[in-house]
Amino acid sequence: MRKIGVFGASGRMGKTVISLLEGEYSDRAQVSARVDASHGSLEEFSTVDAVIDFTLPEATERLTQWMSAHDGPLPALVSGTTGLSPEQHAGLMALAESTKVFHASNFSAGTAAMAAILEFAAPILRQLELTPVLSEVHHRHKQDVPSGTAKTLCDVIDAAYGSATETHSVRAGEVIGQHGVVFYGNSEQIGFSHEAQDRDLFARGAIDATLWLCDDPGSTGGYTMASYFTKRFLG
Ligand code: NAD
Repeated sequence: MRKIGVFGASGRMGKTVISLLEGEYSDRAQVSARVDASHGSLEEFSTVDAVIDFTLPEATERLTQWMSAHDGPLPALVSGTTGLSPEQHAGLMALAESTKVFHASNFSAGTAAMAAILEFAAPILRQLELTPVLSEVHHRHKQDVPSGTAKTLCDVIDAAYGSATETHSVRAGEVIGQHGVVFYGNSEQIGFSHEAQDRDLFARGAIDATLWLCDDPGSTGGYTMASYFTKRFLG
C-alpha cells in the first residue's frame, strides 16, 4: 500500500486526485497527507512514499525548497503544476539528484501520444510547406497562457520547423482542455486535436505515473511525460 501526500488538496485537481485515491485506487494507495494553503504542513510529507502536487508555481517552489532542505529520505514527487518559470522548473528538476521527480504539464496519455505523432509528422509537413497554427481553449480560471501543454506541443513542432509556431489561447467557460494544431497549405490542410472531457483524466494519469514511479527500480531521476510515455507505452 503506497502512502500518498496531496499538495493543493483543496483545489479542483487535488480534490479529484483524493477522490480517485479513496475510490478506485484504495486497494493500492492511501491518502496519508493533505496539504493546502490554509491547512496542513509540508512536514506531513516526511513520511509518505510520494507527493502529488497540483498547485501554483509559488507553492511548487516552496515545496521544492522544503524538499531540498529536508533531512532524511525524500518522497518521490509528481508535479502537474503549470506556469513554472525556467528557474522554478530547474529548481524542481534539481531534486532528481536526491529522489524521483516527474513534472508534466499534462498527464493524459492522449496528449503524450499527440506529441509523439507530431514529432513524426512535423518534419514531413514542413517538407510539404504547410504552416502550423496551434490553438488551445481552457476554463476561465486557468492562470497561465499559453497552457503548458501548448508549449510542449509547440516545442515539438518548433524543433522541426526551426521557428516559433503561431499560438492562439482562449480562456472561457468551464472548458477542461482543448488543443488543436492545423497545418495550413494553399489548397489543403491537415489537423490534429485532443479534447479532455473530464478532470479525472489528468488525476488518473498523475496517480498511474506515481504508482509506476514507486514500482520503478532506482531511487533518483527526472521524468517527463515523453520519457514516461516512451518507457511505458512504446518501450
Ligand atoms: P485550483 O486553483 O483549483 O487549485 C490550486 C490549489 O493550490 C488551491 O487549493 C490552492 O489553495 C492551492 N495553493 C495555492 N497556493 C498554495 C500554497 N502556497 N501552498 C499550498 N497550496 C497552495 O487549480 P487546479 O485547477 O486544481 O490546478 C492546479 C494546477 O494544476 C494548475 O497549475 C493547473 O494548470 C495544473 N493542471 C495540470 C494538469 C496536468 O495534467 N498536469 C491538469 C489540470 C491542471
